[in-house]
Amino acid sequence: NAFKEGLTKTRTAFVEKVEDLITRRKKIDEEFYEELEEILIGADVGVNTVMQLIEELRAEVKKRKIENAADLQPVLSEKLVDLLKSNEKAGLQMAASGMTVILFVGVNGVGKTTTIGKLAHKFKSEGKKVLLAAGDTFRAGAIEQLEVWGQRVGVDVIKQQAGSDPAAVMFDAVQAAKQRGVDVLLCDTAGRLQNKSNLMDELNKIYRVIQREVPSAPHEVLLVLDATTGQNALSQAKLFGEKSGVTGLVLTKLDGTAKGGIVIAIRNELHLPVKLVGLGEKMDDLQEFDSEQFVHALFA
Ligand code: GDP
Repeated sequence: NAFKEGLTKTRTAFVEKVEDLITRRKKIDEEFYEELEEILIGADVGVNTVMQLIEELRAEVKKRKIENAADLQPVLSEKLVDLLKSNEKAGLQMAASGMTVILFVGVNGVGKTTTIGKLAHKFKSEGKKVLLAAGDTFRAGAIEQLEVWGQRVGVDVIKQQAGSDPAAVMFDAVQAAKQRGVDVLLCDTAGRLQNKSNLMDELNKIYRVIQREVPSAPHEVLLVLDATTGQNALSQAKLFGEKSGVTGLVLTKLDGTAKGGIVIAIRNELHLPVKLVGLGEKMDDLQEFDSEQFVHALFA
């Protein structure tokens, strides 16, 4: 299970505490629920989600007449899987025929470029022809950084000079992709948040250009979030998710955080599917999200 190693920190901070609680308290009483609540909030599951989860656990405990704390752990796993699974179709949406276009949005530093590089590698190793579009023309170094990934993975990058119109870059990229018979076009975008309405205008312009050239595109608009920022990632998701046509989430740096519970909070409060998770800095450290595997890796 690829999640297992990447989730070590979360497992230590969250699951081991739950297990300790279960061995220590033995009985399910008010204090037990209170401590469980604290542990879940500490793992960044988020207050609203924790309250909901505790309510569901209480109901389940009553229904099944569970008395021993030891019998609660499988119920907790079950409830977590349910929460994560609700309304989820995990896999990436691909074009029924022809080219798939995937757009990546998110603030600087969350791991957008790295995710694009990793995903390019994944598609390439499946035998697909991949092209990258350097749509972040704003941040210094963004284009070069994408090129470094392009070289590493062995895929081309379509770019213009820094400061140019990202929609023009996208237009070029789509034309090039069509000419070359590309299967998947992965598009980077700028992630500055200081000027939100400008950013949204820019994204809308990019959508329009892509849609004009490939009517079924973009097939996915993936919002990339840094899991180590915990509740901050949740606010970013709310901010972006509402306006920019986001179809799914990528949670990066899960390996670097004890706050893996954020996956549960985001899933529960946003109703946007978590499509991919980043579990390290290397090319292979990207996984399609799977609720059952995730929860099982936590409690394994
Ligand atoms: P961008 O500004 O959103 O394009 O972010 P980058 O792709 O440049 O990533 C920022 C930093 O986070 C880099 O040092 C990456 O190596 C690192 N990073 C990205 N994804 C992951 C991940 O899943 N795990 C870890 N540990 N680091 C990551």
